[in-house]
Amino acid sequence: MMTKSKATTKQTAKHSKKNDKESRIPDHESITNIIERISDGFVAFDAQMNYIYVNERSSQLLGRKPEDLIGRNYWKEFPEAKGTPFAEAYVRALETQTPIQFENYYAPWDRWFENRIYPSKDGLAIFFTEITERKRAEIQLKASEERLEHIVETIPDGIIMVNREGAITYANSSAERILGLTRATIAERSYNDPKWKITNVDGGPFPDEDLPFSRVMTSNQAVYGVEHAIIYPDGRRIILSINATPMHDTQGELAGMIASITDITDRKQSEAMIKRESDFSNALIDSLPGVFYFYDEQLRFLRWNKNLEKVTGYTGEEIAKMSPLDFFVESGKDLIAEHIKDVFTTGIADAEANFISKDGTLTPYYFTGLRTQIDDKTCLIGVGVDITERKRAEEIMEASERRLSLIFDTVSDVIFLLLVEPEDCYRFVSVNSTFLAVTGLTRDQVIGKRIEEVLPETAHALVIGKYKQAILENKTVRWEEVSVYPTGTLYGEAAVTPAWDANGVCTHLIGSVHDITEIRSAEEEIRMLNHGLEQRVVERTAQLQAANKELESFSYSVSHDLRAPLRAISGFAEIIARRHRASLNEEGQHYFDNIVHASERMGHLIDDLLNYSRIGRGAVRRETISLRDVLTPLSGDFATRLKEINGTLEIADDLPGVKGDKTLLNQIFTNLLENALTYRKPDTPSQIHVTWEAERKAVIICVRDNGIGIPTEYHEKIFNIFQRLHNEDDYPGTGIGLATVKKSVELLGGSVWVESEAGSGSNFFIKLPKE
Ligand code: ADP
Repeated sequence: MMTKSKATTKQTAKHSKKNDKESRIPDHESITNIIERISDGFVAFDAQMNYIYVNERSSQLLGRKPEDLIGRNYWKEFPEAKGTPFAEAYVRALETQTPIQFENYYAPWDRWFENRIYPSKDGLAIFFTEITERKRAEIQLKASEERLEHIVETIPDGIIMVNREGAITYANSSAERILGLTRATIAERSYNDPKWKITNVDGGPFPDEDLPFSRVMTSNQAVYGVEHAIIYPDGRRIILSINATPMHDTQGELAGMIASITDITDRKQSEAMIKRESDFSNALIDSLPGVFYFYDEQLRFLRWNKNLEKVTGYTGEEIAKMSPLDFFVESGKDLIAEHIKDVFTTGIADAEANFISKDGTLTPYYFTGLRTQIDDKTCLIGVGVDITERKRAEEIMEASERRLSLIFDTVSDVIFLLLVEPEDCYRFVSVNSTFLAVTGLTRDQVIGKRIEEVLPETAHALVIGKYKQAILENKTVRWEEVSVYPTGTLYGEAAVTPAWDANGVCTHLIGSVHDITEIRSAEEEIRMLNHGLEQRVVERTAQLQAANKELESFSYSVSHDLRAPLRAISGFAEIIARRHRASLNEEGQHYFDNIVHASERMGHLIDDLLNYSRIGRGAVRRETISLRDVLTPLSGDFATRLKEINGTLEIADDLPGVKGDKTLLNQIFTNLLENALTYRKPDTPSQIHVTWEAERKAVIICVRDNGIGIPTEYHEKIFNIFQRLHNEDDYPGTGIGLATVKKSVELLGGSVWVESEAGSGSNFFIKLPKE
């Protein structure tokens, strides 16, 4: 309502204006003139969409004369328009009473129109123009732009645009990929943002002014193949190659640049690798120890190493003009040419020849040639090595072999070389002259034959066993062998040593046999002599034993027989002492006492001697005797004497048992204890100890005293019969005691010895078999 009343007011105002200035309002005719002249089509409809005006232009556009349309209904004239955007817009404008302006496609005619629709209560006034041409151009442009965009997006190169301020305004998806950033991030950076971390290809600094943008902007010229590196946020270094061209605005002013970016990291890397490889192979070729070269079928050198120049003394330029045959002496050239031909026909050949250098020096070389294809050319790759050393070594070897074979055939030992074949087959490869001399075989009967065919059958098992052992244990195996020949028995000291090849396989056995027949005969002789000697010793011992026995029975009978007269002397002396002593003067009494004394002593001597001779006359028992049973009674026997002299006797209370004869043991210890008491120091109380220790099969008993001791030089002698170190007055005795001990001990299969020093006691040791 409000709107309406306002409109009314406005209309009222307009009317009043019209009234005021009527003369300025164009009349109907002049309006019609205007409408007819405008370039737009103009039609007017009443509220029922009947044409009320159609100008000339619209008649052209609609293809209908105005008079054919005026008064006619739109929907009837153009039924095909129903549902088109235009028809709908007319209806809508009428309904809403709002002007509509729009462009759209009119499908029935396949044309584009622009409409300006002005509604009123009475109908519609429509201005329209055909815009088909413009629209088509626009569509084409858009399609072409899209195509371009598509191309730019799909090409593998990165494309960026930089405006004149240096800001990146566009980046395609390849640029995103190459620069490792999203478009948004790229757009945040300027061409020289430090975040790019720009370096030169080798990682060194890259000046700003050399960047494509700086160069394009200063020169207003395109640049190509600018290479520099950037570093990705993850640290990877990417090498870029950039082409850039200036961009101009519509005024032709320099507006920035457009650049295409290629990632050449891989290419650079493979270039570097190829370079490294070629440097390496060049270095390799040049450092080859021998000479290396290749030449084509026309014998033109294509490549060679430094060594060829060095060895031949020719410069590179000279070699380039030479033929391979120039390096050989005239007489050898044909042969070499032959070999070269062989390489080109068969593919490979080798040769030994003297290499002649510029100054005429000849050096022996070993050459290997191989046919190869280089750049579609058949070439010969050759390698030559100096074999001077080898030649010399061969000569030395030959000389040494000659010497060796001389030695081989001169030595008196048998020497042979066996070839080791599978399954325990050993074949003679070579033998020396001694081998043939000893065996009486000819070389033909031996060389190439298996040992079974050469050696006597009895030896087969032994030698094969030894050979196998030598191989298995990888050492020289020695043994003695006896060979019976018609000439006699020969003894040999045989040895075999395995020889191994480079693969660790035993290929040969080196054998030798040293004749030891003489040594063995000498040994045999010695053995015989020894045997004879032993026999003689046995005989002599038997003789001695018999003599001893005789002596013993003699001394026994002597002492036995002496007893009767001595007893007579003692008996008569006793009578004299009893009846006539008083009648003797002092001198007579003295002599008489001497007689008594001497006869007593004689009695002792005879007793002792008898005792000594008796030892062993009866059967010697070998029974288990406890030493305690022997020594305990003895300590009782000596108790009184010990007491008299204030002495002590200590006997180990764990004395062991021994194998022996009680009587003999009794004699042994009686004598030792007797002596220990007798040979005491006058002013020192005697201390006697009996101790013992065990050995594996024996017991050693020690009788120790603190007496006067025995000088070392008498340690052996005191065991001899009648051997005394003192006179009767100082120490009475017969000199038979220790001889009795020794004899007894030896009869029991033991031994006795003394350890002592003059003045510091004695240790008598008795070693007896264990029980
Ligand atoms: P004798 O009847 O003289 O004791 P022995 O054969 O028993 O005869 O001893 C020989 C000599 O050995 C002795 O005269 C003595 O000089 C010396 N002798 C023996 N036992 C000892 C001892 N225990 N201490 C010092 N000397 C000894």
